[in-house]
Amino acid sequence: MTRSEPSPPYRGRFAPSPTGDLHLGSLVAALGSWLMARAAGGEWWVRIEDLDPPREVAGASERQLATLAALGLTSDGPVVRQSDRNALYQAALDRLLASGHAFECHCSRTDLAATGGVHRTCVTDRRRDHPAVRLRVPDGTSVTFHDLLLGQQHQDVGREVGDFVLRRADGPWAYQLAVVVDDADQGVTDVVRGADLLDSTPRQILLQRALGLPTPRHAHLPLVVGPDGRKLSKSLAAVPVDPASPVPALRAAWGLLGQPPGPVANCTTADDLLQAARQHFDAARIPNTAPTLRRDAQQSFHDGTLE
Ligand code: GLU
Repeated sequence: MTRSEPSPPYRGRFAPSPTGDLHLGSLVAALGSWLMARAAGGEWWVRIEDLDPPREVAGASERQLATLAALGLTSDGPVVRQSDRNALYQAALDRLLASGHAFECHCSRTDLAATGGVHRTCVTDRRRDHPAVRLRVPDGTSVTFHDLLLGQQHQDVGREVGDFVLRRADGPWAYQLAVVVDDADQGVTDVVRGADLLDSTPRQILLQRALGLPTPRHAHLPLVVGPDGRKLSKSLAAVPVDPASPVPALRAAWGLLGQPPGPVANCTTADDLLQAARQHFDAARIPNTAPTLRRDAQQSFHDGTLE
């Protein structure tokens, strides 16, 4: 794969899935990635990750983009949709199959129950018409990387994740493959996103290595948590952002990024607030509330193993 254009020193991105309206939890990722990009004098691109039609909500991506625009957060580059990019993912998959890094797999989730869903070797004689494709992760494969906010992270991918899905048996591309292909194709140098994706990063680094692609820098932002430290995905973090009232939403996201209220307290428009935020942002204040990979290495829904 060749990059579509040379990378600048810093290109960040925000990559929402259109599974609902933009909410406070995703605004923290949007604003955090935007501020990190601006602090580095870099670009910030938006990409729509619409790979999973059953989870998609009609009109959500348009509403997410409109809300981002109302907040003053507009992409510095073309807004691409993953649903338009099958050929890129297919080319990457073909390369991985040809090089022996990937293989077809006919196992079901039930077949893998005995190993807690972790695939180490195929355990079924059944043949599916449309098998899944997995990346081979030999025993003993581990990844260590430096997160700009969380410090050194480590995952024994062979033991904790195993061979992971690149294309699901029912057809869709796995998030892991698409995100790696897109970040490289778009020349993304910095992946700044929520810590709910921290456990995906080692898989993505393995894919970058298998495809001969550069690994971007990583920073995982804190999840929006309540006073008891539990993720507030069903309450505060899930509050939809009202595009008619951008300032309170930006102020809330700014606070959740650990930044002091003073500099943005008197801002009355989104643009004023973003200007003030740019000037006063300090990444060192971002709270380090994310779980580390050593303690939290469960497979997420992104794994995509099918029944
Ligand atoms: N589309 C993913 C999500 O909304 C984010 C992917 C990423 O930032 O790498 O959870």
